[in-house]
Amino acid sequence: MIVANLKQLKKDVPAAVTVVAVSKTKPIDAIQQAHKAGHLDFGENKVQELCQKHETLPTDIRWHMIGHLQRNKVKYIAPFVHLIHGVDSERLLNEINKQGAKNNRVIDVLLQIHIAEESTKFGFSYAEAEAILSKANTHENVSITGLMGMASNTDNNAQLTSEFSELQDFYNKLQASNNWTTLSMGMSNDYKLAVSLGSTMIRVGSLIFGSRN
Ligand SMILES: *Cc1c(COP(=O)(O)O)cnc(C)c1O
Repeated sequence: MIVANLKQLKKDVPAAVTVVAVSKTKPIDAIQQAHKAGHLDFGENKVQELCQKHETLPTDIRWHMIGHLQRNKVKYIAPFVHLIHGVDSERLLNEINKQGAKNNRVIDVLLQIHIAEESTKFGFSYAEAEAILSKANTHENVSITGLMGMASNTDNNAQLTSEFSELQDFYNKLQASNNWTTLSMGMSNDYKLAVSLGSTMIRVGSLIFGSRN
């Protein structure tokens, strides 16, 4: 099932779009199935679970931290994390830079933009993101490689289109001057729309692994 779902999904999106298989709450065995079929990008939203899975599973897996990240937990993932999607404060960015230096590496991150209507979702406003970008070149051990957004939890296509389009416009406006490579938007329910609006990376869980409890 998992391997077939993944194959179908990859057929449905252009090859240039990276599929992050969101394996949160799913067992090791589920990840192994996808990995054996050649899939390498996996996403988790809890630091402890991410670290446990990283220790157990093959070292060629690229681990994506997709959830809200607390500053005091950056140190646990700094040695190995491939991409941190949810950078939503300057203090978090500074801490990632510090832990990057300790681990002698440059950690790739995305700035999370608040695009949803709901006030519960984390992220910068567009103005805040621009302010951060204007001084982010002082960081030597963190690299902002693009943006991430989570649309509202709704079936309203017009609403989703408007949220993704605004993020796409902002990304396009700043992409060249910041050497960005990655626009992370789209999940199981809205990835098709997100890809049609310029997403380069989708984060898909339930469509691959089945629904979560
Ligand atoms: C859980 C999660 C996803 C995947 O959600 P699905 O609806 O299962 O595809 C994507 N992004 C983030 C930030 C998540 O927390």
